[in-house]
Amino acid sequence: MLRLAIQKSGRLSEDSLTLIRECGINFISSSYKLKTEATNFPLEILFLRDDDIPGYVQDGVADLGIVGQNVLVEAGFPDLEVEALGFSKCRLSLAVPRADAYGSVESLQGKNIATSYPSILGRYLAGHGVQANLHTISGSVEIAPSIGLAEAICDIVSSGSTLLGNGLREVETVFRSEAVLIAQPNLTAEQTDLLDQLRFRMQAVRRAKR
Ligand code: ATP
Ligand code: ZN
Repeated sequence: MLRLAIQKSGRLSEDSLTLIRECGINFISSSYKLKTEATNFPLEILFLRDDDIPGYVQDGVADLGIVGQNVLVEAGFPDLEVEALGFSKCRLSLAVPRADAYGSVESLQGKNIATSYPSILGRYLAGHGVQANLHTISGSVEIAPSIGLAEAICDIVSSGSTLLGNGLREVETVFRSEAVLIAQPNLTAEQTDLLDQLRFRMQAVRRAKR
């Protein structure tokens, strides 16, 4: 038996469920249930907040998970990744108020930057020799400059329209992300065999879409 954790409700949910179904795995899902069992594969599906998925898989509470690389790497468990899934592509970018002058990353030296990704951003800035004051906030990061909390932000971008709507412009790409399948480090031989079957089916689904 394998326990797979996926996002309960959000940008990963729909595509995660679709992928499992396209792998030929049948299950009944209802919006109020927190777990369900597949009817034709030894798989139990847990519905969780995406932020909790890397930790649950690292601890073995769930055997597998589907989560964005942004959340996985921020949580500090990049090694759990076993398969890139090709959906929920987005990037983590630095943005500044449109009217502000911006030369390069170095111009952020000593500035206040609001983000939900202090670990990924901190490493990026350190790599450019920049020291900034990172303010960790969990949502609505884009409004930070307009309320005087920060001179710049670092947040998830896909189309850029949210940035534009808040008078911001994207100036650097910090990290590129997509959804990935992750697995706990101590699977039994039997579970590893099931994981291999699952990965084989996932790869076939992706090939068929190209
Ligand atoms: P939860 O309630 O589970 O904590 P959340 O609000 O943190 O959800 P979502 O906004 O649903 O998260 O995003 C989940 C993941 O989807 C992100 O971590 C990222 O990997 C990806 N993602 C975020 N925004 C986009 C986007 N605009 N386009 C594509 N993928 C995105
Ligand atoms: Zn989340």
